[in-house]
Amino acid sequence: VLLALTYKKLVDRDFRVLAVIEREMPRYEYVPIEVIERRLRMPSSHVAMSLQKLNQLKLVRRRLGDYTGYRLTYMGLDVLALHSLVERGILHALGDKLGVGKESDVYSGLTPGGERVIVKFHRVGRTSFQKIVRVRHYAAERPYSSWLQLAKLAGQREFRALEELYRVGALVPKPLGYSRHAVVTEYIEGVELYVYKDAMEPESMLRDIMETLRKAYVEVGIVHGDLSEYNILVVIEDDKERPYIIDWPQYVEKEHPSAEQLLRRDVEYVARFFRKRYRVDVDTEKLIRYVKGE
Ligand code: ADP
Ligand code: MN
Repeated sequence: VLLALTYKKLVDRDFRVLAVIEREMPRYEYVPIEVIERRLRMPSSHVAMSLQKLNQLKLVRRRLGDYTGYRLTYMGLDVLALHSLVERGILHALGDKLGVGKESDVYSGLTPGGERVIVKFHRVGRTSFQKIVRVRHYAAERPYSSWLQLAKLAGQREFRALEELYRVGALVPKPLGYSRHAVVTEYIEGVELYVYKDAMEPESMLRDIMETLRKAYVEVGIVHGDLSEYNILVVIEDDKERPYIIDWPQYVEKEHPSAEQLLRRDVEYVARFFRKRYRVDVDTEKLIRYVKGE
């Protein structure tokens, strides 16, 4: 895999250079080379060599012109996150890419103990940082690198939501750690509900899905907001089908003005799926009341 191979080519110095660029990114469209040098205690020839290498590996992008500057690419952010996860003993190796979504890249991975895990790199607004100029006074409210901030926020949100959901016993992958935009969870050895054709007990699966939504709403206080047969993984454990709900970064709190509408949509999607594929007779209103704990 490109990402894993690229990661292996880096030495401590390269990670330090990347980290400085990351830290300065909210203040600059491209972080000026003078700023990078000033923040690092290493000879400027070393900084230059490292930047050259990082640029070739496409971990940073160079801007030439009235000043020379650098910014991180998504791959640059990926290797910083990997570095932190490895240093903290959360991750040992990165495996195959399992999927590319609009909003994420998902890889398999291994922990130091040899357990199989998922590493999900959030991708938000891949192209939303064009024509931006340098500003100092409101850097905190209007960061240039909005894609960076948004991707990190998505990672943090998903990890924290999973932590709380897992704690109350909802059927979600166990969260193992995160760094920046990368979230590591347990690997669910299952298939998406939409490809799972011959359910043994569809009614029971539907009930379990509603129970997870109810725990999310009543005990954690959140609504998934993007639920469908694509975000449910079915696993067979002890001869029983267990539906795990994944993909939580867009959740909303139940006090949010759209919460009611999103909850309704989540429940309706799932109900419609079970009605169509399995002819399950469902009363959507009753399910919604159940999920809300009424
Ligand atoms: P997105 O849809 O935003 O790209 P998801 O969290 O839904 O992100 O993950 C994308 C795909 O990766 C899922 O449809 C599933 O096939 C796989 N996947 C995600 N998390 C896990 C997991 N914990 N275990 C196994 N497969 C997973
Ligand atoms: Mn998804």
